[in-house]
Amino acid sequence: MALIKLKQVSRIYEMGETSIQALMDINLEIEQQTFVSFVGPSGSGKTTLLNMIGCLDKPTDGDIKVNNVSVNTFSRREAAIFRGTNIGFIFQNFNLLPVLTVYENVEYPLIMVQNIPQNERQERVLKYLNAVGMTDQKDKYPSQISGGQKQRVAVARALVTDPKMVLADEPTANLDHKSAFMVIELMRQMQRDLKTTFIFSTHDPKIVKEAEIIYTLEDGRLVNREEIPNPNNQAGEGN
Ligand code: ADP
Ligand code: MG
Repeated sequence: MALIKLKQVSRIYEMGETSIQALMDINLEIEQQTFVSFVGPSGSGKTTLLNMIGCLDKPTDGDIKVNNVSVNTFSRREAAIFRGTNIGFIFQNFNLLPVLTVYENVEYPLIMVQNIPQNERQERVLKYLNAVGMTDQKDKYPSQISGGQKQRVAVARALVTDPKMVLADEPTANLDHKSAFMVIELMRQMQRDLKTTFIFSTHDPKIVKEAEIIYTLEDGRLVNREEIPNPNNQAGEGN
């Protein structure tokens, strides 16, 4: 059974007199444990689509199922609980809290959302810091580490709650090419090791090749679906 199922999903933004059709009749299914990318130019609807799947926004029309649950019928509170237990988020601007250390940033969702006891919390935080190669930097503040390192911390923070899926909206847009590839490679490694579904968006055609399945958006429509045979062979290529 598919983890995510979108049926005839549309999203129209009303802006006074005008309305903007950000998404139009989107149909797609995403299987569990896959590494998926949405690609398309700025304004094509990538963020809107990720926001729908992440229960941050609702479609104007159509149905979205995650794990066979219609998430578009959730109240705000139900959506928040669902996000906290099922979805990890990674952002273009990292969104680390500047007053917290690397360690505390990764620990934060466990305190805020899941109320996990202290000793288990520590075990989990250290496990994920180690997985993303940031153990040595755990007492530093975000201002003391590089962009690539910040995004590694954000990957750990997204995974620490053991979500079913991680959504990353243009996670490499603020990184140089080398760091961008390292972050995508890290996400892919986590997807393989932890069997978490990863969905990221990008407008960078080089980065997108790292995905297993690529959906192309154009003016709010899904115009192509491509499966990349054995994407593992292409790591770092064309850098
Ligand atoms: P992308 O992430 O691919 O750049 P978006 O999903 O952000 O695309 O935007 C798709 C379209 O919807 C664009 O035309 C954008 O201007 C419009 N849009 C996005 N968010 C809003 C909003 N909150 N209100 C009005 N229009 C919006
Ligand atoms: Mg966007």
